[in-house]
Amino acid sequence: MVGYTEEAQLGWRAGRVPAWVAMAAGRTFRNAALINEEEFLMVETVDVVVLGMGPGGEAAAGDLAEAGLSVVGIDARLVGGECPYYGCIPSKMMIRAGNSLAEGRRIRGLAGVAVVRPDWAPVAERIRSEATDNWDDTVAVERFTSKGGRFVRGRGTITGPLTVSAAGQEFTARRAIIINTGTEPAIPPIPGLADVPYWTNREAVAAVEAPESLIVVGGGAIGAELAQAFARFGSKVSVLEAAPGLLPPEEPDAGKLLGDVFAEEGIDVHVGVRIERVHHSAGTFKVDVGGSTVTAGKLLVATGRTTNLDALGVAALGLDPAPRFLDPDAQMRIADGVYAIGDITGKGAFTHVSMYQAAIAAAHILGQDPDPAEYHAVPRVTFTDPEIGSVGMTEAQARAGGLNVRVGSTDLTTSARGWIHKSGNQGFIKLVEDADCGVLVGATSAGPAGGEVLSALTLAVHARIPVSTLRRMIYAYPTFHRAIEDALDGLE
Ligand SMILES: Cc1cc2nc3c(=O)[nH]c(=O)nc-3n(C[C@H](O)[C@H](O)[C@H](O)COP(=O)(O)OP(=O)(O)OC[C@H]3O[C@@H](n4cnc5c(N)ncnc54)[C@H](O)[C@@H]3O)c2cc1C
Repeated sequence: MVGYTEEAQLGWRAGRVPAWVAMAAGRTFRNAALINEEEFLMVETVDVVVLGMGPGGEAAAGDLAEAGLSVVGIDARLVGGECPYYGCIPSKMMIRAGNSLAEGRRIRGLAGVAVVRPDWAPVAERIRSEATDNWDDTVAVERFTSKGGRFVRGRGTITGPLTVSAAGQEFTARRAIIINTGTEPAIPPIPGLADVPYWTNREAVAAVEAPESLIVVGGGAIGAELAQAFARFGSKVSVLEAAPGLLPPEEPDAGKLLGDVFAEEGIDVHVGVRIERVHHSAGTFKVDVGGSTVTAGKLLVATGRTTNLDALGVAALGLDPAPRFLDPDAQMRIADGVYAIGDITGKGAFTHVSMYQAAIAAAHILGQDPDPAEYHAVPRVTFTDPEIGSVGMTEAQARAGGLNVRVGSTDLTTSARGWIHKSGNQGFIKLVEDADCGVLVGATSAGPAGGEVLSALTLAVHARIPVSTLRRMIYAYPTFHRAIEDALDGLE
């Protein structure tokens, strides 16, 4: 257990001295109820302040506390951040449930007859009881405090080079501040949108029933995943995307594939559209788009994520608050003693990036010499069905980067495993090679197990394994990943 009292510097504005101050040195003071903002401002020096306890912040704060440092973790909402409460985990529970319905519907033609009757109730219940504890982070807070950390609930602001204020206290860090404040849903300036009761991912994962009809504004990973999950439960879903295809940052083939599958499943996809206005009355949303009007009972905005470096107070670090992201060096530092990790770094808005960066930052703070951060092989998976896994560069990015590019691709339905799989077998593998170096710099694996097949491709890109070595490898028959061999053969 880490004692703070002996280290605390108490700067009283006024008023009473709480009981714990008078108590013996070495006592931790964790009871937030004792902190009364109106009566005093407490200034406290600790080793590390972690501002924002997303997945990376929670991990780094816990590791540093376990290593014996005095650590204060601050979060305005829930310890663990977006992923467990509003993002990855509840959305993947929805998707797992939706996929089981889809598999049930595929029984006809493969294994007899099944009657599939969707019921959202088990999904809503599972998200409440198993994933989010009804959006209560007691377990996560205890996980951190049991490692010796102290948790402060409140919105923090950076007020000096190594100082953060939150919940009426000011924390000065002796060793480091870690910023892990993540992102918020971005709400585009569409006329009328601000005045209507739209959903973001936070309301969508909390749905107690699948809406009868749903408009999803944004066909990126989050929009596509949620659109398909609700559609499989019977919601009549329309997806409106401004880019020419779904999943704009990915290979165009991936967006095309998903568009085709969505159309087969009855999802109404509009790409390359500009939304003119949003209205809401009598429980119905109306979206004017390209001369027609799309209507639904719910409207989900999934148009990316935003940050606010100004509100965070990064100017107090001497940094420009105008950019969208903080740009850390390879040890995750953005200023002397100040580290940034997670979505706010713009290196990939994924839990695995946040955790990867957290490990580097924590090791560096502990005086170790971690390998510098590298981002040439960041894997990402859109958990639609088919899953779209990708790593590194797309073909267009590699060409724009001036590489001498060769690409190879193969249709998964023609592979042995794809043919056996039959319904639900759509997918492809696409490889992007730097022909001068003879290594893969990017890959996409779309299909029933696209995210799992991605692991081999991520290893190839990460370790820069020569394509000649990949060609000599033995790929198990009949697996989905064996199709990598066909894509290698197609490199030209
Ligand atoms: C619907 C959805 C699905 C997703 N699915 C996946 C997936 O399948 N796989 C994947 O890898 N990623 C997924 N993500 C992304 C993933 O959730 C994030 O990348 C992940 O949470 C890491 O974010 P982070 O570490 O930057 O912090 P976040 O999780 O964003 O947490 C930041 C924390 O900081 C707090 N905070 C912010 N500002 C302040 C402040 N000033 N003071 C105090 N506290 C503050 C917030 O309350 C929050 O708790 C998904 C996201 C969404 C929305």
